Amino acid sequence: MKIAVAKEVREGESRVAMVPELVGKLTGLGYEVAVEPGAGTAALCSDEEYVDAGSTVSEDAMVDAALVVSVQPLESRTVRRLSAGTATLSFLPAGQSLDLVADLRACGITSFALELVPRISRAQTMDALSSQALVAGYRCAIVAAGLLRRFFPLNMTSAGTVRPAQVVVLGAGVAGLQAIATCNRLGAVVKAYDVREASAEEIRSVGAQAIDLELETLEGAGGYAREMTEDRAQRQRELLTPYIANSDALITTAAVPGRTAPLLVTAEMVEQMKPGSVVVDLAAESGGNVEGSEPGQVVRIGNAQVWGGANVASQMPGPASQLYAQNIVNLVTLMTHEGAFAPDFDDQIVSGSCVTRDRQVWHEPTRLLLEGDQS
Ligand code: NAD
Repeated sequence: MKIAVAKEVREGESRVAMVPELVGKLTGLGYEVAVEPGAGTAALCSDEEYVDAGSTVSEDAMVDAALVVSVQPLESRTVRRLSAGTATLSFLPAGQSLDLVADLRACGITSFALELVPRISRAQTMDALSSQALVAGYRCAIVAAGLLRRFFPLNMTSAGTVRPAQVVVLGAGVAGLQAIATCNRLGAVVKAYDVREASAEEIRSVGAQAIDLELETLEGAGGYAREMTEDRAQRQRELLTPYIANSDALITTAAVPGRTAPLLVTAEMVEQMKPGSVVVDLAAESGGNVEGSEPGQVVRIGNAQVWGGANVASQMPGPASQLYAQNIVNLVTLMTHEGAFAPDFDDQIVSGSCVTRDRQVWHEPTRLLLEGDQS
């Protein structure tokens, strides 16, 4: 059976779904691996490396493949060329890709979305949201350090002492904790805030001070944050204002699953920051935690340069691809039985991540959206 590795076509996508080092894991399971020419180029993996690792490289990679792996979902015109029964494994924001889901269903494709892999401990090695958030969080810290025209660490020199940078991180999930740990390693003094109950302890464990606003915590289902009421949001913004005004760099990483990112920082709050300040908004693409941030751009608000994230994990394509490919290998291993790609739909991870199957939309919230769309 063949697994095809697609060349990414979305602008700005530099990652690849499989790296040469891990091809052997798939061939070891009994698969033939076929890579589209240039699939790994942007992630610095050459076609020759794939061939040396035991794959073929060909324009026809997807023809007769049992499974196509990619980072971004395939485009509809590619889906329409696949034979019925082919499976796809990629990120697939199903609720926001209804036309594509309709095509996947119509073409009889079995599609799996990495966003939907349940966050249970058995699935941790398959959790691409976490692996990519880790990369994005690190990158946010490095961007903040790069944009800030001052030291992160304390410097005690014969010419005097330079105080360390003050960094505030809002949102301490996977990306936020990695941003905190990285800023901390670079020597900045870091304070962080998250609405979840468990977050204060997690923040302290990576070397930052947990900001206590004495507000109720907002724990939703599955250990995620819940949405705030506008009153709560307003109060949180007021209480955070002095922390932000006193920081040299602000990094925001807050999200609520399935919703637009919460607005945590208004332009007015940014305007109170000192000259030379830096703001990094990882959530810029999903609505923005910071008012006025623009994905993929640096804009000026008051004294601050505000950097808006756009596909941030893709800005470090090597490690992001390495980790993503390992997630793919672990999922494929789960879905392989006796050398064949044969997902067991009684398995919670398999059924939980499936979007379309047998010409049906398997993911209930997407099915309802699609039906609503058609009525
Ligand atoms: P996420 O990307 O959905 O959100 C990022 C962070 O923003 C979260 O910590 C959230 O609490 C925070 N946030 C939301 N609204 C906020 C607000 N108004 N103000 C401040 N912060 C706000 O989160 P994530 O990184 O995917 O992780 C969320 C949780 O899931 C964490 O508890 C994490 O440890 C857990 N998790 C579990 C597993 C697993 O068990 N396999 C894997 C990954 C993450």
